Amino acid sequence: MTEPTTQPTHDEAHGGALGQRLNWLRAAVLGANDGIVSTAGLVVGVAGATQDRATLLTAGLAGLLAGSMSMAAGEYVSVSTQRDAEKAALAQEKRELREQPEEELAELTRMLRERGMSEEVAREAAEQLTERDALRAHARVELGIDPDELTNAWHAAWASFLSFTVGALLPLLAIVLPPARWRLGVTVVSVLAALCLTGWSSARLGAARARPAVVRNVLGGALAMGVTYAAGTLLGAAGV
Ligand SMILES: [Zn+2]
Repeated sequence: MTEPTTQPTHDEAHGGALGQRLNWLRAAVLGANDGIVSTAGLVVGVAGATQDRATLLTAGLAGLLAGSMSMAAGEYVSVSTQRDAEKAALAQEKRELREQPEEELAELTRMLRERGMSEEVAREAAEQLTERDALRAHARVELGIDPDELTNAWHAAWASFLSFTVGALLPLLAIVLPPARWRLGVTVVSVLAALCLTGWSSARLGAARARPAVVRNVLGGALAMGVTYAAGTLLGAAGV
């Protein structure tokens, strides 16, 4: 008697590409979150010291630009460094494949065996992979990188710049657009609401529980605004 078998789903086949897209999306949400928290802390702090709209706008805009450019530069440096390391590893792999092809074939066979193939199958697979594209096979199996999908540092930098800017625009507009007596309330409420959303999204994109992420995110933002507002109020009262 044969058991009815369920059809295997093929979601896993696309896991790599989908996972990478989710990582990008999550990085964008976290970048926006940074923009919201740092700019909100900045403008609320200045609002503690002054009612002057032009000062608030200047401070908020400077914070937006400084933050987005620092995020972009940091991302550019970190991705470039990683890319350089990956390129160097690929170059070394290329050299080894040219100078000691036998050892490299044995190495690939051993790594495929460690992944659960029998000696015979691993040998056969290693030979076929080497014949087709030895460098790509070693890059994937040995280094865990895809030579066609090295992250572009400029793309990463732009993504950071844009996501931080989008986040920073919210507290900036919330502090300068409403009439003076509403501006703090509007800013605090809209920032905390936005932090609920970014906390929830980043947790869901990372397949983590949403509630603790939302609570931590909102508390972090509230703390940032509370501390800078207190500092701004003290400085404003002291007439600095
Ligand atoms: Zn190798």
